Amino acid sequence: MNKLLLKNTSQLSLSEQEKYNRELYLTLSELIRQAKYNQSTQEKFYNLELYFLQSTSLHTLFNRLLEDLVDKLNLAAVELHLVDHNNEIQRLIKDIYGDLDYNNLIYCRNSNSIEELYHKKYSIGLSQDPTLLNSLFKHTNKKVYSVAMLPLVRNKQLIGSLHLGSHNKERFVPGLATSFLQHLRSIIGICIENAVTQEQFKLLSLVDLLTRTKNRRYFIQSLTKEIARATRSGEAISCLFLDLDNFKNVNDTHGHLTGDRALQAVADCIMPMLRQSDVLARFGGEEFTIMLPNTNQQHAEEIAERIRLEVSRLIIADDHHQEFGITLSIGISTWVPNQKSPITFEEAQNYLISKADEGVYIAKEQGRNCVKIAPK
Ligand code: GH3
Ligand code: MG
Ligand code: MG
Repeated sequence: MNKLLLKNTSQLSLSEQEKYNRELYLTLSELIRQAKYNQSTQEKFYNLELYFLQSTSLHTLFNRLLEDLVDKLNLAAVELHLVDHNNEIQRLIKDIYGDLDYNNLIYCRNSNSIEELYHKKYSIGLSQDPTLLNSLFKHTNKKVYSVAMLPLVRNKQLIGSLHLGSHNKERFVPGLATSFLQHLRSIIGICIENAVTQEQFKLLSLVDLLTRTKNRRYFIQSLTKEIARATRSGEAISCLFLDLDNFKNVNDTHGHLTGDRALQAVADCIMPMLRQSDVLARFGGEEFTIMLPNTNQQHAEEIAERIRLEVSRLIIADDHHQEFGITLSIGISTWVPNQKSPITFEEAQNYLISKADEGVYIAKEQGRNCVKIAPK
């Protein structure tokens, strides 16, 4: 850029003055163009940061980071390595959203692998080194020729590493001004931490803390979603209601804390017997419910019978090492969407819950420790 040198022009000839004015004009125009460009770049970055800050869930944040950022910054690929001690984040996502996979999200058990990228300095890395690029972008088929590596740090701990890959070898070169990337990485670190905390709270409101099964609220929500899905697919849904037999006696004989442990033991026994898509919930007190998507009545009966048998084989010990067993009464309901006489979601939900509940009532009447289906 030309330096803006102001001269005293009174001594200059007319043509020199004209030349000088032209130069002055061109220099000023260039300065204004540059200022406008800077302002629009600033606005773009500002909007990008807002876009991340406004992510309402971890799921949205991951999608914005891993997919939208590619377009917004005109990149070849974006990759996020995320430290996930004890698979906590993966479990959160699974519990809330089910089985979700994100392209280019790599979970690390600890920060060792990404620490190596930064040599303890935690400053932005810019590189065109092909060996490094090959070791990073393994999960994409896009060709990456330069990379900006953004260490994500919270409370002086490395929580992740975001890699912006460009098709352009000259894009991320050592010496590039990184103030925008510095700012971006701070914002993204905060966004990830906040989103994880929010999801943890969300999950707390959906699980039963004693048995680690889902709670009634989650069950009803899932049932509503599943009824909507089944209405489109035409598949059957079954529900099982399970009520522990004579549980009051367990508490009275062995104490309430042993009763709590018995509830946990029953949940732990049932959980591994279910598919990923099934939902086991503690409906209240000593009652559990299970939603079985895409399951007809006969299949539901087989599952219920297997659960009844397994639970009846449990041996629980109280604090005085006195052992005892436990049994369940199970009611089953099945709903198959009928195109000819459709009912509302709410009617389908009420039908599934009330019929399964009636089944439990019949099972209790017929001596407990059995599986029953209420007549239609
Ligand atoms: P039935 O076979 O007819 O179901 O008999 P029941 O004794 O299981 O049924 P009832 O409804 O009379 O009693 C339920 C008992 O479950 C009473 C209550 O103290 C116990 N209970 C409910 N929630 C919990 C809990 O969180 N922990 C413990 N330990 N007991 C619980
Ligand atoms: Mg009960
Ligand atoms: Mg009971």
